[in-house]
Amino acid sequence: MDSRQFRTAMGNFTTGVTVIVTELDGQEYGMTANAFMSLSLDPMKVIISVGENAKILSKIKESGKFSVNILSADQQELSMIFAGQIKEPRKVDFDYLDGKPVIPNALAQVTCDVSSEYVEGDHTLFVGDVTDLCLEEGDPLVFYGGRYCSLAKEEQVVYK
Ligand code: FAD
Repeated sequence: MDSRQFRTAMGNFTTGVTVIVTELDGQEYGMTANAFMSLSLDPMKVIISVGENAKILSKIKESGKFSVNILSADQQELSMIFAGQIKEPRKVDFDYLDGKPVIPNALAQVTCDVSSEYVEGDHTLFVGDVTDLCLEEGDPLVFYGGRYCSLAKEEQVVYK
């Protein structure tokens, strides 16, 4: 078992794509992330996982707040910007919800206050108390096997 095998195995887990955003001293910082989960319904809590080398790590620790923005299929470019896959700096405009920066037109904007953090291996897990939400209609951006994909509507089966 090596780390490449582990990455390949984890890449077989299909996810949506989010951009985590925080703000410190009037400056917004974003990072693309798919290590995101809904943790608790009552009270509403989510978890994100941030790598130890990510610049946003210290910013979230200091600001104590973040937003999770679930991207739509037509927001792949934003994912690439905030993953450093597009190298040239781009100007990104943010909206604000509950005093926290959010990505305009994301399928869901979820604002959080950090309630606890746990260092595990080379990542830090942040548990966030959800403070506000905003929803948009649309199809999600999907990530599978290290590639961006979208849902093929005609092949969808709906289970109830
Ligand atoms: P930075 O250089 O600080 O930021 C990354 C990019 O965002 C830079 O190009 C920067 O210019 C741009 N940027 C930041 N703020 C702004 C702004 N205000 N305006 C305009 N541009 C801005 N890593 C994890 O730790 N956890 C995960 O769950 C995770 N999931 C991922 C899922 C996917 C699909 C992908 C592609 C990557 C994922 N990553 C994850 C990796 C992570 O996105 C990259 O390592 C990221 O670039 C690291 O951020 P940084 O803070 O080190 O880099």
